[in-house]
Amino acid sequence: TYIIGQPCVDIKDRACVDECPVDCIYEGKRMLYIQPDECVDCGACEPVCPVEAIYYEDDLPEDQSEYYDVNVKFFDDL
Ligand code: SF4
Repeated sequence: TYIIGQPCVDIKDRACVDECPVDCIYEGKRMLYIQPDECVDCGACEPVCPVEAIYYEDDLPEDQSEYYDVNVKFFDDL
């Protein structure tokens, strides 16, 4: 799956939402989230993010590793 990280917080540009072919990017209070079971790993969202907040899961920078859990928690709480 792809993961949205720290740069999205309080930005929520939403360019990715329009690109995603399976509509798996959800809006939270402060950032956007990718539903990992729905994401088809097409990569279309990644280059359109103006703040480069989207990473393939293996490429999530170490200093943003908490966004794995932030993401899981968001969908657990839905
Ligand atoms: Fe949507 Fe593709 Fe991005 Fe996954 S990688 S969130 S399917 S645009």
